[in-house]
Amino acid sequence: MRTFSGIAASPGIAMGRLCVIDRRRAVVPEYPIPSEAVCHETARLAQAIENTRVELEALKSRLAETSGEDHLFFIEIHLMILADDRLINETTEIIKTGMINAEGALRRTLHRYRETFASIDDPYLRERISDVETVIERVLRSMSGETAEPFPQHEGQIIIAAHDFSPADMLQINRTNVLAIITEIGGRTSHTAILARALDLPAVMGVEGITDLLLDGVAVIVDGLSGAVIVDPDQETFQSSLRRKQHYEYVEYELLKTAPLPAVTRDGHSMQLRGNVEIPEEGASVLGHGGSGVGLYRTEMLFMNRTFMPDEEEQLATYQTMQQAVAPHPLTIRTLDAGGDKLLDGMDQAAEANPALGVRAIRLSLSMPDEFKKQLRAILRVSADGPVRIMFPMISGMEEVRTAKALLEEAKRELTASGTPFDSAVQVGVMIEIPAAVTLADLLAREVDFFSVGTNDLIQYTLAIDRGNEQLSHLYQPLHPAVLRSLRRIVQAAHGAGIPACLCGEMAGDPLYLPVLLGLGFDELSMGAGSILRVKQILRRCTLERAARIAEGCFAFSTAAEVEMYLKSQITMDVAESID
Ligand code: PEP
Ligand code: MG
Repeated sequence: MRTFSGIAASPGIAMGRLCVIDRRRAVVPEYPIPSEAVCHETARLAQAIENTRVELEALKSRLAETSGEDHLFFIEIHLMILADDRLINETTEIIKTGMINAEGALRRTLHRYRETFASIDDPYLRERISDVETVIERVLRSMSGETAEPFPQHEGQIIIAAHDFSPADMLQINRTNVLAIITEIGGRTSHTAILARALDLPAVMGVEGITDLLLDGVAVIVDGLSGAVIVDPDQETFQSSLRRKQHYEYVEYELLKTAPLPAVTRDGHSMQLRGNVEIPEEGASVLGHGGSGVGLYRTEMLFMNRTFMPDEEEQLATYQTMQQAVAPHPLTIRTLDAGGDKLLDGMDQAAEANPALGVRAIRLSLSMPDEFKKQLRAILRVSADGPVRIMFPMISGMEEVRTAKALLEEAKRELTASGTPFDSAVQVGVMIEIPAAVTLADLLAREVDFFSVGTNDLIQYTLAIDRGNEQLSHLYQPLHPAVLRSLRRIVQAAHGAGIPACLCGEMAGDPLYLPVLLGLGFDELSMGAGSILRVKQILRRCTLERAARIAEGCFAFSTAAEVEMYLKSQITMDVAESID
């Protein structure tokens, strides 16, 4: 038995026989050609492009018959790329000027496209290079005389492992016998991952070297929830994975039915359950999972992998897309939280001895007020379209909030002067994720409209445990008495000032912690969309009164392990009572 780990790209668990598909790039040697061969090479290129077009048209008709028209969109994109004159013109130019063979020239064209796409700001558009790669690989295969049939159909229940897997490949999958996908490359926002989720097919991506190591026919378990790939599992692992799979599927099925139910306890206490999002596609998913809006929009994703900051108009367009996806519910936009482990281009992590304690989040924004105001104006402008809240990350004291708010007022004045509409009463909140902010919570609460606790960082800074260090993960304890005392203090300070207490760290998405967070008095929890229904299910089984007793009970213990044992025993008692 051997376990690999990759990116959990599409949830679900599958077990089956492995089928390794050699989707590796066609091997294409580049070699010089004499001038009299130029015509021959350009003709070969044109013929290969035409052959590929014919293949794609045939594939399109076949798919239209078998899978309906719905997903043919990807084939259309590939046909468009192929029909673009630039592909043939640029490659022909390289053949002529470089005096090289058609395959080598086509590879060079692909290289140029890669560079161009890498500089695209929008991460979604940037990833579309994969469509260009797929098309060019097809043309190369055609030139090498290989059949461009993407992959053969297989008998029996299989799990496909491939170096890469294109959306078009995905569409040709026979859903009756393909159970899951493993790839060596690709990320969560690739079209392949989007389609895997849309098709409800578990997928683990980025499992480096797996097609070199694995053999056709070996038994494998794909865990799209954890990102694990277990090869040749022993009986015990197989049984436990099977139980995990059955449980997951049953719960998902039942849970989705509950999406429209209100997030309210048995004794009628409402709690807002919202989603954390990073890219616009996630907005719709939050609502689909019954979330009442977005409690944390991590805008820094828009600022990454680029040399220039996005301008106000680009930010506005992106925020508007998200706002439209979650309307009429509120959208909480957090201002740039870069630095630490989230580096922007040009930031050098090695330049700081302690990046987690360095120039990050609000400190970075305040160090570049013009850029910060651009973001504030973009957020304010989207507030004209629907309920929007602004949230400042990593606040450590009063000066930071006051300076940030003063810049917000300046941004408002600038918009007023230019006659640009915005919601003048837009709500402003701060993240409480630094111990100093906990200590000053009563003062900070007078300055803002809401608190949102970032437990990921609050635990890290309270316990001095690097949240990304896997060697210390056992010491990263959400139920540590110091953390619980901080959470209690934050809620008390918020409510003392009459503002809501929200929590948007990962702690919000773990159903075990729900009774404590509810009992402590949190008004809103924000989490990954996939966690909302599970947390809501527990919420609907609780009463506020019982949760308050459980939360109070936690303070009788002095270690995280004791608190956890207590919490589990309380939940077990509840289950036993409900069975009685
Ligand atoms: C947190 O720190 O809990 C949080 C929600 O912010 P991030 O994970 O983006 O630091
Ligand atoms: Mg944080």
